[in-house]
Formats: sequence, C-alpha cells, structure tokens
Amino acid sequence: MKDTIAAICTALSPSGIGKIRVSGSEAVEIVDKIFKSPGKNKLSESDTHTIHYGHIYNGKDVIDEVLVLLMKAPRTYTREDVVEIDCHGGLYVLKQVLNLLIDNGCRIAEPGEFTKRAFLNGRIDLTEAEAVMDLISSKSEMSLKNSVSILNGSLYKKISSIRSDVLYFIAKIEASLDDPEHMSLDGYEEELKEKLITINKDINYLIKSYDNGKIIKEGINTAIVGKPNVGKSSILNMILDEERAIVTDIAGTTRDTLEETVVLNGVTLNLIDTAGIHETKDSVEKIGIERSINSISKADLVIYIVDSSRELDDSDREIISLINNKKTICLVNKSDLNKVTDKEDIIKCFNNCELPLFVETSALLGTGKEQFISILSDMFFDGKISFNDEVMISNLRQINSLKESYESINRVIDSIDNEMPEDFLSIDLLSAYASLGEIIGEEVSDDLVDKIFSEFCMGK
Ligand code: GDP
Repeated sequence: MKDTIAAICTALSPSGIGKIRVSGSEAVEIVDKIFKSPGKNKLSESDTHTIHYGHIYNGKDVIDEVLVLLMKAPRTYTREDVVEIDCHGGLYVLKQVLNLLIDNGCRIAEPGEFTKRAFLNGRIDLTEAEAVMDLISSKSEMSLKNSVSILNGSLYKKISSIRSDVLYFIAKIEASLDDPEHMSLDGYEEELKEKLITINKDINYLIKSYDNGKIIKEGINTAIVGKPNVGKSSILNMILDEERAIVTDIAGTTRDTLEETVVLNGVTLNLIDTAGIHETKDSVEKIGIERSINSISKADLVIYIVDSSRELDDSDREIISLINNKKTICLVNKSDLNKVTDKEDIIKCFNNCELPLFVETSALLGTGKEQFISILSDMFFDGKISFNDEVMISNLRQINSLKESYESINRVIDSIDNEMPEDFLSIDLLSAYASLGEIIGEEVSDDLVDKIFSEFCMGK
C-alpha cells in the first residue's frame, strides 16, 4: 500500500487515446520528473483536480504530447494522490511512458490494485468493488443497471441495515446476561423470533435473486440443435434479426464464429457453437450429432428445431434423447409448408424427459419470433424482466455468505423454539453477523481480498 503504482488502464490496442494511471503518495512527484508543461508550474505546485497540457520527456527526447489529470488525495478513486496521463493510444508509446514511470520509482500495479486500494482505504465496500468489475463486463442494459445500482451502494445499504439489527439483538442478549438484574429477557424471545423471521425473509429474497442475477450478468448458454436442413441457420438469422450470409450450401464456408451473443427483450442468450449450425445435407449426420452432444451439455437452454414438413426420424429421436430434462423450447419450423409433423408427434418422442415448450415458426415468413421471446421471458424471469430497483445478486461469493447467514439465523429461531439458553442465541447471531460482514468486506481475510481483486482487469 505504500508503493506508488502505475498501469496502462485502457485497452492494449491502437486507439485515439491511451491512459496510464498512477496512484500513491509519490504519484505527483514521479510524474513531475517526466512531464513538462511549457511555462507552467510543476504539478506539485498546481491546484488539485486540474488538467495540464505538456510533454513526456525521457531526459533528452520528447516521448509524447499528453494531457495530465491531476487529482490529489483524498477526492480520488483510490483516496491516494492520482495522476492520469492521457497519451496517444499506441502500444509502443504507452509502454515507453510506463517504463519511464517505473524507472522513476513506480511499481506496476497488479490487476485490480487501484480498486483494492479504494476498498482498503474505505472509499467503497466490497459489494461496490465487485460491482465495478461487473459494470465493466456488462453485456446488457439490465446487467449494467444492476451493477450501477450496487455500485451506488444499494446492496451495501441492505446488508448493513440487516447487520445493525443483528448487532442490536446480540448487544441486548449480552447485556442482559451480564446484568440480569437490570436487563430482563422475559418475553423477548418471541419478539426476537418475529424479527428474525422477517430478516430471513429479506435474506431469502436476496438469495432467490441469484438465478435471475446470474442470467442477467452472464446470459443464458443456449444451444440451437436439430437435424441438417430443418432451418437452424435461418432461425438464427431471424433471432439475430439481420440478414447474414449464414444460410449456406457448403458447410463452414461463410463463418466460423463459435459463439454469438444476442439480447432479446433484455434476456441475453449466449449461442453456443453457432459454427455447428452450418451442418447441411452434405454434412455427415454423425458429426452433427457429436456437435449436438457437445453443445447440449454446455447449455442452460436448448432450442430444438424440427422441420414440420418432414416426418420425424431416428436422428430426431437421438437428439431428443440428448436433451434430457434441459429447459427446451421446440420450434416447429417451416409452418408455411404442408404440415406432416406436429406438436403431438414430437411429444410422443419425449419419453422420460420434461416436455419442451412449443412455438410454431416460419423462418421464411419471419413468424413466431415474438411468441418465442415471450416464452423465453416466462421461462427465466416469470415474465417479469423489467428492472425495478431491486438488487439482483450475481456473485457466488456473496450468495454463499448470504446462505450462511440465513442458516445461522434459522438456528437462532430453532434455539428459541427449543427454549435453549440465551448464550446459544448469541453464538449463532454472531456468526450471522460475521457472514453478513463478509459480503460487504468487513470480515474478510487478506487472502480473500487478494483473490477477489486478482480477478480484476489490469489498470482497474
Ligand atoms: P440448417 O441446415 O438447419 O441450418 O437449415 P437452413 O437454415 O440452412 O435451411 C435449410 C433450407 O430450408 C434452406 O433452403 C432454407 O431457406 C429453408 N428454410 C428454412 N426455414 C424455412 C421455413 O420456415 N420455411 C421454408 N419453406 N423453408 C425454410
């Protein structure tokens, strides 16, 4: 924490601007050694939160023409002195400037180290720090809104409020154990039980938000499967809502992308192995089946496509046997043609599996897409996919701590029911307090902090 750290914090590819961030007690002094602003004061003599035009020198030559953002502690991202150097966004020039900073006393920042300092210096709690990363990796509007809401402290406030209630219960019990003459717990247990039931309802609500939170953050891994020629590429085009050259006569000639992300009415689908969709009538069916096995095994959702103008055959039955209790939407495609196979025929093949939901589609006419999207929303969000100020947890670490606190509180309720002595109650209340503290980062070990921040990206 004492070192002054530096890192390139924009993408490592040629671009208009590349930013290097420096943070620490010597940040201003070190940048002053390599930066000159014609006719102007040194940065150390300048006002905070100002922007300075000038050049970076390596002692004899100019390396780059830059803008320097001077932010002195404490109103900064890390709460330390922070200097940001906006260079031209070339990799070579950025590395030259970074090397100069290192030569003059900086250390290269570890991934996430700026945010870790913001956390350790008390500017943000752990939920807010983790939201920073989620915000950066957001792929959809809802994911972004959720991250922004957590970044603004919504989860922190909820957890802190529950935690202070729990602390009050502990204090009350401990006080009465210490001084039974003046503090009586007579009748308090029933009242405490009521309050704990309410608290656990709130905690459970947060735990339940995980399914949606995870889907919103990461998207639904979706496999599109079906025999050659049933219309997989055409349906994919319809879903992607754009005419791409995916429908092809010769497999693999147009695209070899393996994964594609599409956001449908707020629901993010990560389409697995869209290259596999190229199987055509020329492809060996066996390859198609192997690809299906592979993509179905990775999928949270299977979109199984049937050509309703043809009879079902062994390949269909084989694919159906692979789907096996996965969430499945069956698209009965080519509904513009004469119907040979309908929903009932398909249901007969689903022996022991959970039945899929059906939508009739015609990729040719572009019909069925709205119904498909509405079924999708029902399947994953009970139809309620609008974001209404509720916090959704998408972080496994936070969920595990929430579950531990839920269980501890349940044990307190059990102890009350079983008329256990009061000190039993406070033991479990203390462990609930500790688990809740882990979520916001008030009861975490250094190792865990290191692990969390090591998953951040460089320069953040
Ligand atoms: P894939 O092999 O499963 O990816 O199937 P394609 O999307 O390449 O489609 C195979 C053929 O079926 C192409 O000639 C498409 O134009 C045609 N096709 C796809 N969907 C429909 C549909 O809904 N109706 C009709 N009539 N033809 C379709």
